[in-house]
Amino acid sequence: AGQGRRLREGVTVAIVGQPNVGKSTLLNALAGYEAAIVSEQAGTTRDPLREHLLLDGLPLTIVDTAGLRETDDAIEREGIRRAWQALEKAELALFLVDDREGVSDADRALLARLPAMPRLLLRNKCDLAGQAPALYPGSEGQELRLSAKAGLGLDLLVQALKAQAGLSEVGEGLFLARARHLEALDQAASHLAQARQRLTEGAHAELAAEELRLAQQALGRITGEQSSDALLGEIFRRFCIGK
Ligand code: GDP
Ligand code: MG
Repeated sequence: AGQGRRLREGVTVAIVGQPNVGKSTLLNALAGYEAAIVSEQAGTTRDPLREHLLLDGLPLTIVDTAGLRETDDAIEREGIRRAWQALEKAELALFLVDDREGVSDADRALLARLPAMPRLLLRNKCDLAGQAPALYPGSEGQELRLSAKAGLGLDLLVQALKAQAGLSEVGEGLFLARARHLEALDQAASHLAQARQRLTEGAHAELAAEELRLAQQALGRITGEQSSDALLGEIFRRFCIGK
C-alpha cells in the first residue's frame, strides 16, 4: 500500500551541493530539457526550481537548488535559505560533489547539516575525472558516479531512486492501493477481530459468521463485489477446499 501511494503521489527529491558541481545540469538531464540555467558561473541558481517527472514509471518532484556556500550577495543568500527549506520538505537528498575533487571538508560540513533523511552521494563529472559511471556502497550509504552532462549513469540513478522509494521490487504484480482500499482493509481486519472475539467469548458462531460476512464485503470492495456464492465457488475452484 505504501508503494501504491508513492507511485501515485511521487517522492520529492532535492538536489543539493556546493556551487558548480552540476546540480542544474542534472535536473535538465532528468527532465530532458533545459529547465534550469546552466553556467560556469557559481551562484547562478537562486530560486528552487521544481520539476514533476515520471522516470521509468516512478513519479518524482525534483528540486534544483542554489549552491550552498557563504556569500555576501543578499539575493543568493535568500536562495540558499530557500535551498535549506526545500531540503526540509524533501524525502530524499541528492548530494552532489565534483568527482575530480571528491568529498571536501566543506562538503562534510554540509552533509553534517543536512536534515535527518535518506541521502545519496553523487560524484558528478565522472567524464572529467576519467571514471566510469557506477553505483556502489560507499562509507555513508549508496554512492553513485555519473556525468549529468554526458548522460552517463543516469539509468543507475533512476535505479537508485527506485530503491530509495521502496520500489525496487516493482513488477507486474504491483498493487495500486487507493485510500478506499486501505479503508476497506482496515474494516476487514476489524470485522475479523470481532469474529475471533465472538468465538472466544462463548462460541457465538452465528455472530461470528455475520462478522466474517462483513469482512468479506469489505474485501469485496477491493476485489470487485462478489456474492458469497460466487466467492465460495472461486475458493473451491482455486484451492479445492473440502475435496
Ligand atoms: P550547479 O551550479 O551545481 O547548478 O552547476 P551547473 O549545472 O550550472 O554546472 C556548472 C558547470 O559544470 C557548467 O559549465 C556545466 O556544463 C558543467 N557540468 C555539469 N555537469 C557536468 C558533467 O557531468 N561533466 C562535465 N564535463 N561538465 C559538467
Ligand atoms: Mg545551478
